[in-house]
Amino acid sequence: MTTNTLKPGVVTGADYQTLVDACKRGGYALPAVNVVGTNTVNAVLECAAKAKSDVIIQLSNGGARFYGGEGVPDAHRGRVLGAVAAAQHVHLLAQEYGVCVVLHTDHANKKLVPWVEGLLEKSEEHFKATGRPLFSSHMLDLSEEPIEENLEICARVLKRMAPLGMSLEIELGVTGGEEDGIGHELEHGDIGNPKLYTQPEDVLKAYDLLSPIGHFSVAASFGNVHGVYAPGNVKLRPVILKNSQELVTKTHKLGSNPLNLVFHGGSGTSADLIREAVGYGVFKMNIDTDLQFAFAHAVAAEVDANPRAFKYQVDPDNDKPYKKLYDPRKWLRAGEQGVIARLTEAMADLGSTGKSIAV
Ligand SMILES: [Zn+2]
Repeated sequence: MTTNTLKPGVVTGADYQTLVDACKRGGYALPAVNVVGTNTVNAVLECAAKAKSDVIIQLSNGGARFYGGEGVPDAHRGRVLGAVAAAQHVHLLAQEYGVCVVLHTDHANKKLVPWVEGLLEKSEEHFKATGRPLFSSHMLDLSEEPIEENLEICARVLKRMAPLGMSLEIELGVTGGEEDGIGHELEHGDIGNPKLYTQPEDVLKAYDLLSPIGHFSVAASFGNVHGVYAPGNVKLRPVILKNSQELVTKTHKLGSNPLNLVFHGGSGTSADLIREAVGYGVFKMNIDTDLQFAFAHAVAAEVDANPRAFKYQVDPDNDKPYKKLYDPRKWLRAGEQGVIARLTEAMADLGSTGKSIAV
């Protein structure tokens, strides 16, 4: 078996495909972390370097808007420029950390297709100047539309991405829960709802249409839910992923696990189920909710430990100055360290620790 290695930094095009193949061959998956600012980006890079794990950094439309600043008057431009600002930050710093980094954007429903197209324009400009796109990949989540329309729009967008060496993540079936206003709040009795489970026939349709156009991955639903809900709301059935892989393998006479699969809504999933899903060709698992909580929890501990420093610049009882404690670097750093600790666990669960292919 040949070992493929890459230079550290943002990976795109053939290098991106090399990384995805290395994950699937090596039986591990990369965490895909939703970032909202330099604190979360830097925490992810620091964690990846310490764990010697490659990593995926992604922005939701709301995360991109926040990154660019909630005060940018035009929300559409704010979402595009915020994502570009994050990408430039990552391009500048990623190689310093000695790992491979995939740059990606998260769920875009039909209303947000223009956001992705705005970013493609930026990648086309970047490609002209450097020979590489700005982002490694984007996601389109048209799972609320009929399957024919979902795939038709995906094919149109992938045709534009392929010449830049970019990959498209699509969604088939519905991830339960809601993220940044996209998705479906779960209702009682949703367990067993067939929409929460991707049909292998739909995955085959996607493969037939998209694989001749370019590189793509599939967020398939196997009972996953965004956010953390009370146990028992849904049941994860990773075997659905296996069934999709086997149908494509059989129909096209391919080797095992031809599809690149993505695991959404995995917060709170046991390590056993994660390993089972990775065995069926999952190379990317999104991690948002658990890291949001890790950041907030660590900041809360700072506030709890020094409550008066968040109330007074100088303590009125004893004239103690609190500058060193309310300095944002103190408590934001605590938040970063909370993210690093939780993401280190996620990398261990996904099997990516020590597997970076960057040299
Ligand atoms: Zn998702």
